[in-house]
Amino acid sequence: MKIAESLRDRWELIKVGDPRTLEGAKRALVQRFGDVLRAVAGAREGDPARGRTAAYGPFFEIAVTEPSYPVRLAIAQEMGAGGDAAFEALREKFPLPSRHERPDKDDPWVQYEEAFRHEREEEHRWREECLRKHPDYDKARDAYLDFEKTGARTRGRIWRQFVMRAWLVPMMVGSVGEKHRAQARERLQIWLGHLEPEQSGSHRADLPLYLAHRLGVRNFSMLVSHVRVPPAIEAIMRSPGCRVQAFLAAGHVCSVMGLGEYPELARRFKVPVVVTGFEPLDILEGVRRTVRQLESGEHRVDNAYPRAVRDEGNPAARQMLAEVFEITDRAWRGIGTIPGSGWRLAPAWRAYDAEHRFRVTDVTTEEPAACRSGEVLQGLIKPHECAAFGTTCTPRTPLGATMVSSEGACAAYYLYRRLAHRTDRPEEATPVG
Ligand code: SF4
Repeated sequence: MKIAESLRDRWELIKVGDPRTLEGAKRALVQRFGDVLRAVAGAREGDPARGRTAAYGPFFEIAVTEPSYPVRLAIAQEMGAGGDAAFEALREKFPLPSRHERPDKDDPWVQYEEAFRHEREEEHRWREECLRKHPDYDKARDAYLDFEKTGARTRGRIWRQFVMRAWLVPMMVGSVGEKHRAQARERLQIWLGHLEPEQSGSHRADLPLYLAHRLGVRNFSMLVSHVRVPPAIEAIMRSPGCRVQAFLAAGHVCSVMGLGEYPELARRFKVPVVVTGFEPLDILEGVRRTVRQLESGEHRVDNAYPRAVRDEGNPAARQMLAEVFEITDRAWRGIGTIPGSGWRLAPAWRAYDAEHRFRVTDVTTEEPAACRSGEVLQGLIKPHECAAFGTTCTPRTPLGATMVSSEGACAAYYLYRRLAHRTDRPEEATPVG
């Protein structure tokens, strides 16, 4: 146990120059450690080592701090092969369905969402505190930066803990003996309930595809309509009469995809591309940097959101995307089909593809004739220049995509317009993403 705790406490300090060498060494260490734990668990009666398997606890905690996907998977496999000893040491991480008034409290997905939301609220509270204390933006940002880095680490740990649990639950069912099999199955059932929305009462199949696959669940499908930004930028810039002079690139997209696809677009179309976050100050900073470039005749990619976005994005997430999705043409409401502007599930994941399984490829959505969202998206008109804006088209009765989402231009104009005669609060659009 002491060795396991010492390893856990020093794990984040283990660093060498070459990430592959480090990853290989860690995996070898993990496998050796797994062997030792199983040997200890199987020690003979009377051997002082027998039963000392609480070390699976620190082993689990190591996985939660480990950034490398293959190393985490190796830890899960070693623990998952640990049988009864691992199950006994880790069962508190996989609580049984609750007998008390809030059965959902023991639901891993609910626990994950609550932990994530709590962390977000803490970060938001601290951000507000910084802004209140330091009216000067630069000072507020400096005060907030360290806290935000810690917050990002904490969110990463919450997610990794959730994924580890998802991996381990089915592995445990296969590795425990008769003594614990029923309990292990019961825990698995809680997870599977999310893939049977009616049975679980959640009325939504909400486990991500990747986890569903790890759980070996097959009665689960997704209708994928994800889009890619760079082809859309290219289509907009090529459209006749285009008046767009610059782009604020969405920080959340870039935090995964990185900046690699933008320099060529900025150069080719002579437009600044500034990566921004979503807080009011982030947007203002993005606009300020954009205007500066336009005034000085520059057109380059500028990352105004470095606290979340690295040039290379998130390689682990991109690796997962590359594995699960492939590029396809996508029809954009109000614009039409843009080649290569969407993602669909890759052939290996076809079994989960609702389009493939239920043959709904021919279903299309026509924008009402009154809707001019295509022109809004291309910067040809402003939302309030559409005759339906605020009359027949509102966030509660949206006619087009740009009014449906709170991020859409029409919804944003509706929400934040300044009308002297208005006394009521504007309706809220549905948040997405
Ligand atoms: S206001 Fe409504 S109808 Fe007009 S462009 Fe926007 S979404 Fe379409």
